[in-house]
Amino acid sequence: MNKEFLYSLLTTGSVSGNEAAIEKKIYDYMKDKADEVTVDELGNVTACVNSSSNFKVLLTGHADEIGLMVTAITDGGMLKVTGIGGIYTSEYPGHKVRVYTERGVIYGAVINTEELSKKKELEAADLTVDIGASTKEEASSAVALGDTVTFDTDVRELLGGRITGRALDDRLGAYIVMEALARANESGVSVGAYAAATTGEETTMNGAYFTASRVKPDIAIAVDVTYATDYPGTDIAETGDVRLGRGPVLCNNPSVHKKVNALLRAASQRAGVAVQTEAANGRTGTDGDVMHRTGRGVPFALVSIPLRYMHSPAECASLSDVEDCVKLLAEFLTELSEDTDLRPF
Ligand SMILES: [Zn+2]
Repeated sequence: MNKEFLYSLLTTGSVSGNEAAIEKKIYDYMKDKADEVTVDELGNVTACVNSSSNFKVLLTGHADEIGLMVTAITDGGMLKVTGIGGIYTSEYPGHKVRVYTERGVIYGAVINTEELSKKKELEAADLTVDIGASTKEEASSAVALGDTVTFDTDVRELLGGRITGRALDDRLGAYIVMEALARANESGVSVGAYAAATTGEETTMNGAYFTASRVKPDIAIAVDVTYATDYPGTDIAETGDVRLGRGPVLCNNPSVHKKVNALLRAASQRAGVAVQTEAANGRTGTDGDVMHRTGRGVPFALVSIPLRYMHSPAECASLSDVEDCVKLLAEFLTELSEDTDLRPF
């Protein structure tokens, strides 16, 4: 496992719509690990091997994260914000944040009052960020409307090979697809293999749409996080019994392609990687949903990393699950044949 690369992604702000810094890191890292690495107009970075093959597989992990965006500056020099993606507003008051400005990161505190802490339906408009400025002019000289904001927290290692941090969703996935492609390239791949770190999943899913429309894959695999159910307050009846450290999760649902799932399962056995299963209804809420509907339609599957406390500043995952996802996908790419027939009969 290349922890240095993984942690460099986890310490880079990448709120949806502001992913250039993280995508540049991925681009630079992959330059000597694939035949070709490209960046498109939306900032999606795609690495590929065997682009001339007529059978193509696309793996995606989204590089963007949820957060806040500055909408206004008050006369007193404080910032008003709106939410980007599925935030839990009540988690922000009383926390330190980073504001990503044109000239770099500046820090702030989200104001906290007794009234705010007791308010039931807290909305993003209720949040105010104190960056230390005393006037609108002073704040405006440092921050522009549209600048993005995240919690001022990165990654910490826990006991048992686990990590906690903000937006493991889905920088873990972006790491996994790139490592899997690099490893498959080392061991030899016969199909066209593509790995993309997509933009905008938490808001528009446009990144995955652009990427799949251009690659025109025969199979798409979205690599994203899924809800672990191994902590108090969760219910295994909702999606299944998913635990940290028990391996990648394959999804059974009406839109996930059964033959692609079977190929992933076979790859997991060859690679000696245990997999878990979740069950869900029609849409997956991932890049898979939009890739599926590009071009002539694309069979897709999900490979998920079990995650606790999704969309909180302290998400938790297991490094062994991350490594097992890499192993599984590298094996899948290495053994896939150009003659693969995905028709059910
Ligand atoms: Zn995600």
